[in-house]
Amino acid sequence: MKIKILLCNCKGLCQSFKDSDFNTLPFQLESELDVHYAVLHPQLCGQGGNEALADIFRESAKDPETFIVSGACAPEAQEKLFQKLIRKTGFDPKRFVAVDIRSTNNDGILARIKEKVEALVREHEAALA
Ligand code: SF4
Repeated sequence: MKIKILLCNCKGLCQSFKDSDFNTLPFQLESELDVHYAVLHPQLCGQGGNEALADIFRESAKDPETFIVSGACAPEAQEKLFQKLIRKTGFDPKRFVAVDIRSTNNDGILARIKEKVEALVREHEAALA
């Protein structure tokens, strides 16, 4: 099982992200969690962010053991924003997990993402048993 974490801080301008440090966050997540990597794009739903996401979705679609955890705005908003791209790239939407990382600090983001990652691992292990 491989978990890739994508992060977005809404161009660094949104007040919801004022208490988090996105320079240190990817390394913090990689150190604390058993994940393949954590990367940041400041506007995942923008043109460049979409291109980067499309590459990651396409590559990840090849491996049914790869999951993508996306830390950004509200999960419902992310699902709408990325739905088309997920379909277009052939990535299984069940392997896309959106997490709301707004209005907290790095430790709060770590706790929210950790909860999702642990749930994914548990579900995956249960499916294999
Ligand atoms: S994906 Fe969400 S958090 Fe990121 S730039 Fe778009 S609206 Fe903002």
